[in-house]
Amino acid sequence: MTIRVTIWNEYLHEKNNPEAIKIYPEGIHETLKKHLSSEKDFVIRTATLEQPEHGLTEEVLENTDVLIWWGHMAHGKVQDEVVQRVADRVRRGMGAILLHSSHASKLMKALTGCSGRLLWRENNEKQIMWNLKPFHPVTQGIGEYIIIDGEETYGEPFGIPNPDELLFISWFSGGNVFRSGWIKNIENGKLFYFQPGHETFPSYNNPQVIRVIKNAVRYLKPAGFTEHTKSIWLKEPVVE
Ligand code: ZN
Repeated sequence: MTIRVTIWNEYLHEKNNPEAIKIYPEGIHETLKKHLSSEKDFVIRTATLEQPEHGLTEEVLENTDVLIWWGHMAHGKVQDEVVQRVADRVRRGMGAILLHSSHASKLMKALTGCSGRLLWRENNEKQIMWNLKPFHPVTQGIGEYIIIDGEETYGEPFGIPNPDELLFISWFSGGNVFRSGWIKNIENGKLFYFQPGHETFPSYNNPQVIRVIKNAVRYLKPAGFTEHTKSIWLKEPVVE
């Protein structure tokens, strides 16, 4: 069984910021695609902000099992109609992996109803991401923790709903802690938020970070009832 993955990236920093271009010359989406392509059952496509409908047409979403999302400086430029379309698709079973600064995206807010606010600073701090659930499918192959030598610091309080599954808590050398990997069930679908990946740090070349994303794709894949949930979804509710 193949897993259809769509990697969405706003793709702006990696065209304008020399530091980001050096690390992700073809964009974060292409780097992720390259790493995820080692999984032979993944069928991967990419989409970016500048494409018509941001590359997330009805057809693309209906043929996506898991959507990976990276956005930062242009959250406000994502059309509300597209955000609602994606959120509806998650409610009907599609998995959504929201990376790094996507905590403040319209999609995060549409799915959780929360602000996604957090504490942050760019100070190149060391991070230790502690694995809280070593027997969970998403943490397989990770071990006790992931060490990232330099990342943007994110800290609590984090404006999110209580996670259904809290998988990682991070410590930063500046002293902060952060819920850096967690899952929330959204009706028939699942949202996985995963924090590493500031555009000027090479976190998406870290094999453990990539391992988590690959595991999450497998865990978030809908169990095969997409057509069924669609037919239910499209019916008008019966009101007596
Ligand atoms: Zn960042």
